Amino acid sequence: MGLPAKRRTKQSKRERAAHFALKAITLSVCPKCKHAVKPHRICQNCGYYRSRDILKLASRDARKTKRKQKKDKKSE
Ligand SMILES: [Zn+2]
Repeated sequence: MGLPAKRRTKQSKRERAAHFALKAITLSVCPKCKHAVKPHRICQNCGYYRSRDILKLASRDARKTKRKQKKDKKSE
């Protein structure tokens, strides 16, 4: 493993550490469902991005319930 060529002074160590603080995340509001979302990302609540349905959560839920009904019918 590499060994530091020179000792880092307290000052230089602290100067580097001045940038380590975590920043609070910025959130914007989903124009469709008004949920808080990270900018430039798909809304996880409604699945929309730039007014387009990306995740198609509504049809996914419909498919899930349909599948479950089919399964329940089979087991009876
Ligand atoms: Zn949304």
